[in-house]
Amino acid sequence: MNAGRGLPDVEIIAVGSELLTPSKVDTNSLWLTERLNALGLEVVRKSVVGDDRARLEAAIRAAFGQGKIILLTGGLGPTEDDVTREAAAAALGRSLSFRDEIVEWLEKRFARFGRKMADINKRQAYVIDGAEILPNPNGTAPGQWIEQDGIRIALMPGPPGELKPMFEAEISPRIQAGLEPAAIRTLVYRVVGIGESDLDQLIAPVYTKYSNPMTTILAAVNDIQIHLRARCPTAEDAEALVAEVGRKIEPLLGDRIYSRDGSPLEVIVGRMLHDRSATVAVAESCTGGMLGERITSVPGSSHYFAGGFLVYTNAMKTGLLGVDPDVLAKHTAVSDPVARAMADGARERTGSTYALSVTGIAGPEGGTEEMPVGTGFIGISGPNGTDARKFRWVGDRRRIRHAAVQSALDLLRRRMIF
Ligand code: AMP
Ligand code: MG
Repeated sequence: MNAGRGLPDVEIIAVGSELLTPSKVDTNSLWLTERLNALGLEVVRKSVVGDDRARLEAAIRAAFGQGKIILLTGGLGPTEDDVTREAAAAALGRSLSFRDEIVEWLEKRFARFGRKMADINKRQAYVIDGAEILPNPNGTAPGQWIEQDGIRIALMPGPPGELKPMFEAEISPRIQAGLEPAAIRTLVYRVVGIGESDLDQLIAPVYTKYSNPMTTILAAVNDIQIHLRARCPTAEDAEALVAEVGRKIEPLLGDRIYSRDGSPLEVIVGRMLHDRSATVAVAESCTGGMLGERITSVPGSSHYFAGGFLVYTNAMKTGLLGVDPDVLAKHTAVSDPVARAMADGARERTGSTYALSVTGIAGPEGGTEEMPVGTGFIGISGPNGTDARKFRWVGDRRRIRHAAVQSALDLLRRRMIF
């Protein structure tokens, strides 16, 4: 795909045996991919390789290809198990040279912290012949950049706090220097209330016609992001191109699109409340405070969030919100009338403009044939009356609770649109 657009393919190799255990995740490649995509480049392959010289050498060779950019992270430390320098040198058929200036720099760095450099740190002074040395202001391992036979290779340290500044200061400018001058424009849609495969079925016929802009779909719980990223000679062209594709996608999704600037739902809803000088209160059962947490995670939410009620038991629903015990007995706590009564009670007791309620079966126990796990009701009370909607959220307890919060925020958003 990159090749079709005259752009180099990028491959990432994360080095470190700890990244092959269940307790440590390779987050560097995710961060790098995000940065590369922002330049309009695509990562075509990535891998995680343990601290093994021969395997790493083989992985680097396997990544070779005309015009390729190969980014390595990790394995530049001072210990025996840090083998990236040796493996890359071997893959390129080059030798390593000891560089006095690096030792001097390392000694100064240690002295600045009032320590003496250990002898093993001298391992970090080996540089692949012909490589540029990339300074590392945040650690002891310098990076390296080598160009050979149309391939560009970067060696970067593993700690994220060292990798990120080095990529921004040293690698990103070198990558961009090899690209045609271009402007990049990204349009981000965020969508709620539709599943990933349904969404893709709707919009794939549009976006698959274009390799520029590049389309990425990121699905979270009841929250999908669509990124359209155009790379053009001028900013006007790039803007026009994302707008062209956006104009075809928007009518297919309609008001399920809640954001066009990347803002999450709680921010969008907060803005809408603020613009209307309205307030909201919440009454939560199965989400146990998560809805209030989402709303109040936004700075400035004190202007529109009245407060909330955490009412798990029937007694609390009655005691705090005035839900009629007969209604609870007749319909059960997870029902349309109870969701309405909870919302009404929260609105009356706080004097807020709107109130949302959540009641549902988050599981894993408590489901019945009629009311399986994931069944829930969101109630909304506002100036135009009271309403409740039934939902069937899917997934485990965590997903169900997240989906419920998202549905509640969306119900309020829809109430304010119309
Ligand atoms: P190294 O450069 O291999 O000595 O890595 C030093 C430390 O950086 C490791 O112990 C990890 O904690 C962290 N690290 C290395 N690679 C990664 C990666 N791909 N993603 C996140 N953290 C990493
Ligand atoms: Mg390591």
